[in-house]
Amino acid sequence: MKCFKHDTEAVAVCPYCGRAMCVPCASASASAAPRLACSDECAKALTRNEGVLQLLLQKSRQSARANSVYCYLCGALSAGGTVAAWFWLPVPLLMWLLGGSAAALIISGAWFGRGAGQMKL
Ligand SMILES: [Zn+2]
Ligand SMILES: [Zn+2]
Repeated sequence: MKCFKHDTEAVAVCPYCGRAMCVPCASASASAAPRLACSDECAKALTRNEGVLQLLLQKSRQSARANSVYCYLCGALSAGGTVAAWFWLPVPLLMWLLGGSAAALIISGAWFGRGAGQMKL
């Protein structure tokens, strides 16, 4: 594989456009970009892409956290409903339904919360 600019053997490949780079090309771009890119344009595009990715991750982390809070809240409400039903309306089916949904909501709340914690770069 030859460098895209020079007629020398390539040592690296641009992660953005896939062009091959020789040692001087790779080291020339390495100082400007966090990752090896063949040109300033590619380096900028890579940084931009990473910015978008970070933003997306941040967004999904936020929504996972919001989901987790929402699930815990609904789970707590259902659990409260189960207790209330125990006192005022002890119908087995109703209590099964309320208790079951409380458990399911709290479990999914924990799952979302764990997902939010795991989404790190
Ligand atoms: Zn490139
Ligand atoms: Zn080169």
